[in-house]
Amino acid sequence: MIPCFVTFFLTLLVCGLLSKQCTIDMAGYFEEMGFEELQEGQQANHLLDMARFLIDFGFYNEDIIGEWPKLPPPASREVVLSLPEITIEGNDKSCPICLKAFSNGEKAKEMPCHHQFHAKCILTWLDKTNTCPFCRYELPTDDEAYEAYRKDKKRKEQRQEDIETLHNSMFS
Ligand SMILES: [Zn+2]
Ligand SMILES: [Zn+2]
Repeated sequence: MIPCFVTFFLTLLVCGLLSKQCTIDMAGYFEEMGFEELQEGQQANHLLDMARFLIDFGFYNEDIIGEWPKLPPPASREVVLSLPEITIEGNDKSCPICLKAFSNGEKAKEMPCHHQFHAKCILTWLDKTNTCPFCRYELPTDDEAYEAYRKDKKRKEQRQEDIETLHNSMFS
């Protein structure tokens, strides 16, 4: 239950970040989805609405309901503080979070995956989860349990790769 609320909160947060325009669209979204006003005596099924909302926004994929049952934890404080500040060149780039165009010479933060964001946009996001919202590149976290899970996942993938390599070398 708690991870569900956390995820929902994050979704709202992202929408908040996406400026007022989004708030207007959200009203339209609920209308479009056929969410109706409650009749007298009816109870709101918030969880169900939340689930539908998450599915529609792509938050409800295997990554989240699979092995790690929630969004990954916040990025490591230290790593976030050391993200380089870069100067935007040209007028053709925009911040993937708020979608506002960068102006030439504007300062931005760059993730190791080379995606560039307004400092405020990406820092708020990384305070909630460690993953690049654009490409899902994961920054290290300060969460020991999550890091152990990640290490284990990597080890399993490596083992699978080794088995395949061995298999290929034996049968080709
Ligand atoms: Zn931005
Ligand atoms: Zn990225």
